[in-house]
Amino acid sequence: MPSKSIDALARQAQSILGIELAEAQLAQFEQLTDLLLDWNARMNLTGITEPAEIALKHYLDSLTVLNVLPKARRGRLLDVGTGAGFPGLPLAIARPWLRVTLLDATAKKLRFVEAAGRALGLDNIRIAHARAEDAGRDDAHRGTYDFVTARAVSRMPALMECTLPLTKRGGMVIAMKGAATHAEVRSANKAIATLGGELADIHEVRLPGLEKPRFLALVRKVGKTPRRYPRQAGSPSRDPIL
Ligand code: SAH
Repeated sequence: MPSKSIDALARQAQSILGIELAEAQLAQFEQLTDLLLDWNARMNLTGITEPAEIALKHYLDSLTVLNVLPKARRGRLLDVGTGAGFPGLPLAIARPWLRVTLLDATAKKLRFVEAAGRALGLDNIRIAHARAEDAGRDDAHRGTYDFVTARAVSRMPALMECTLPLTKRGGMVIAMKGAATHAEVRSANKAIATLGGELADIHEVRLPGLEKPRFLALVRKVGKTPRRYPRQAGSPSRDPIL
């Protein structure tokens, strides 16, 4: 029997996102909540500690990315600044045929993500402990991802320098953003053009019970990122392309 919060997740994923989660997937979300609460008692992973709130603000919010991913498409997805695994882990649960790389500069949080992945039996994820700027200059990562997601990582101009170099030509950056998205995207016009991107869409998402809309800013990689980008770790935020 799924818990009340996971039951609600199943219903909302279906009614709001049109996604049918199978029982095995719901069980994985259930287990993820247990692990998150257990680890969170020992380290600071998330400020959200109510199962119903975790289901809404971490799981359902992460799953909104599926609204803009081509449905059955295989491919490689990179989650930059994944923290405790959002949106990367829910996406890996919901789309087992996507190969999901979860990247963060903080090893501590990645230990949780790795342990959770193992406990849930997710064989489509891998962990990358690195600064996005360093990964962006490493040929093992640079230009190799079909989709690059990021939630609550940095402001758009810096975020573009941390994501577009990692995106394949023809691929897409999906930045999960809050109320000020339109202004933020405008401030990133130069960064987007400089790094080989093009704004594709700003997709509005509304979640039940949340007053403010959320947005997915979609930036397509249409050209090449010049070799000098990304600059060294820290520079994109300290001295953004404006
Ligand atoms: N995406 C998660 C975590 C957000 S907190 C969520 O929405 O819940 C921001 C995370 O981004 C932190 O874990 C931080 O370590 C990571 N981060 C910030 N800048 C980074 C960078 N340049 N490279 C890699 N990770 C970064």
